[in-house]
Amino acid sequence: MSKPHVAVLGLGIMGGGMATRLLSAGFPLSVYNRSRGATEKFAKAGAFVCATPREAAARSETVISMVADDAASRSVWLGENGALDGAPAGSLLLESSTLSVDWVRELAAAAAARNCEFLDAPVTGTKPHAAAGELFFMVGGSTAGFERAREILSVLGREVLHLGPNGSGALLKLINNFVCGVQAASFAEAMSLVREGGLDREKSVSVLSNSALASPLIKRIVSAMTADDFTANFPLKLMTKDIGYAINEAAKGGLPLQTAAPALDIFKHAIDQGLGDQDFSAVVKSVGKV
Ligand code: NAP
Repeated sequence: MSKPHVAVLGLGIMGGGMATRLLSAGFPLSVYNRSRGATEKFAKAGAFVCATPREAAARSETVISMVADDAASRSVWLGENGALDGAPAGSLLLESSTLSVDWVRELAAAAAARNCEFLDAPVTGTKPHAAAGELFFMVGGSTAGFERAREILSVLGREVLHLGPNGSGALLKLINNFVCGVQAASFAEAMSLVREGGLDREKSVSVLSNSALASPLIKRIVSAMTADDFTANFPLKLMTKDIGYAINEAAKGGLPLQTAAPALDIFKHAIDQGLGDQDFSAVVKSVGKV
């Protein structure tokens, strides 16, 4: 059976990996990226490069957006020459960026008004997982839409989980990331105390990264510290965005996220220090330098 034509909007760290994966799995692919430079290698690999999200959606049966934040998502779907204007009725529209729940629900309603099937399908996993088809998809939307999306999501992910109606995937992703952000901020403070307390850094890191606190996330930070390589797999500014969205979402229900708020301050401070485009693990470089 021939594979459906897919459009990928956003060819950054994650969207680029997903597009590569789809091409290698034999999906006919159209791509759009705000800045044209990122499209070149995909043109060489056989993708059709579109000038607008509208054009990409018009050429495709399934559209996947993977862009930075709410503003970027609004722009590619509803902006001038946005994808919703081009998507034929019946298209399957997947929003995989990490976004606020309110925006995702607004977008779902706009898609429904166009008779399109919309799923929020954010992911866990990072750069290597995107390119290798090993993401974990948290999906919100109808059961029928989820079943339609399963084939493509299974190419991109090792796990694909339907959580409930639109917004469910977005919410769980924000919950996941605010806890990651709190862990990272807390570990940054821990390393600051190691330094200020005059402890041996190598021995201390060895103990901490083999103790009960050594989550995969902490191990990732330790590995970046050890290599002294903070090249972004997950940019610090995007982690900051996610903690902020989680705080806002919880506040709507009168629930203050009391651990997330200081973590957000720590990440904002790291951005002020020019670390926003580095990996989120670079937060360890900022604490203690206030
Ligand atoms: P990235 O490398 O910074 O890429 C961001 C993409 O968004 C680029 O294609 C960028 O286009 C586009 N963009 C930004 N602002 C835009 C705007 N106003 N209008 C149109 N396009 C815009 O980020 P990423 O790491 O791939 O992350 C993409 C999404 O996945 C984010 O929501 C992030 O939170 C989420 N996520 C990331 C990871 C990770 O490990 N990296 C993991 C899970 C989820 P330009 O090239 O023109 O700037």
